[in-house]
Amino acid sequence: MIRSLCRGRNVGFATPRLSLVRPNRLEFSRSASYQRFNNRQSKSFVQLLVDPASRKYLAFVFGGGSIFYLTHLEEAPVSGRNRFIWLPRYLELKIGSYSYNSMLSQTRGSMLPSNSSLTVKVSTIFEKIVEAARKDPSIDRELLDGVNWQVHIVNDPKAPPNAFVLPGGKVFVFSSILGICKNDDGLATVLSHEFAHQLARHTAENLSKAPIYSILGAVLYTVTGADVFNRLILDSFLKMPASRQMETEADHIGLMIMSRACFKPQEAVELWKRMAEFEKQLKGRGSFSPEFLSTHPASDRRIENMQLWMPQAQELYSQSDCGAMSSYYDSFQGMISGRLTTEGPNSLWG
Ligand SMILES: [Zn+2]
Repeated sequence: MIRSLCRGRNVGFATPRLSLVRPNRLEFSRSASYQRFNNRQSKSFVQLLVDPASRKYLAFVFGGGSIFYLTHLEEAPVSGRNRFIWLPRYLELKIGSYSYNSMLSQTRGSMLPSNSSLTVKVSTIFEKIVEAARKDPSIDRELLDGVNWQVHIVNDPKAPPNAFVLPGGKVFVFSSILGICKNDDGLATVLSHEFAHQLARHTAENLSKAPIYSILGAVLYTVTGADVFNRLILDSFLKMPASRQMETEADHIGLMIMSRACFKPQEAVELWKRMAEFEKQLKGRGSFSPEFLSTHPASDRRIENMQLWMPQAQELYSQSDCGAMSSYYDSFQGMISGRLTTEGPNSLWG
């Protein structure tokens, strides 16, 4: 489930496909030797290493690549891990814009109008979150200023529960997630988490690493000739651990921002409990994947983390003068809820 939460943000890594010639049946039958994986490919790779001209070329590529890699390492927020980002902001925004247009064409038939009560309600919650981020001195203003934040609600109860924020500020919330969110604080948890992915530039990080994964995949394929095996190695040892770290960073940033925005941090724990329950239901239907193979940490792990971070979140909440704001907001929420109840299908809380 949590995987589906971030589906729109994730970028697919190109599966390496080389046009290497596999031995045909005739060649195989004439050969008396045991062909482990694929001798022809292994041999050509070894030849590449032995040939002085090729070696010089490889050394140049490897040396240049290493310098480029090392000069584009930076510290990730929250975890402080070293990460590789080379994608310039304008390219990140261009890709976000392309994804946005693609999403618009895919969801055109089920998109709620921008003046619908539900869109207005979710937009109001999201605006509070963006405002809170502006008050956080640790967040780079370049990621907030001049961005046209815009919320879209995809009213498709049959679609998997999902929500995401694209680079460039376009937010998509699928109505099927609202039942799990249950209330404003639950929705704020999901929105803050997705927003945090953008504040931490996780899309840019994934896009930056995509060519490396492609090259590694190509090298592994050249050596082993086994595509499925290579994908398993890359997923298990590189992509998934990095993805889980990004999720934890987004969880932490999101929890702090929603607390600053006067949404009850304790409700984040309740939201992830409901997510865990949803995961159990998926498991019952045979569509559950264990944490090690998942691109996201299990909800139980998230709940443990949230509880560890709760004192810090509660402190931010109490420092944010939420008492005065909540009475104003409760009356606004009551007004909107009242309107939603009379609007049938859009009354999706609970
Ligand atoms: Zn996520």
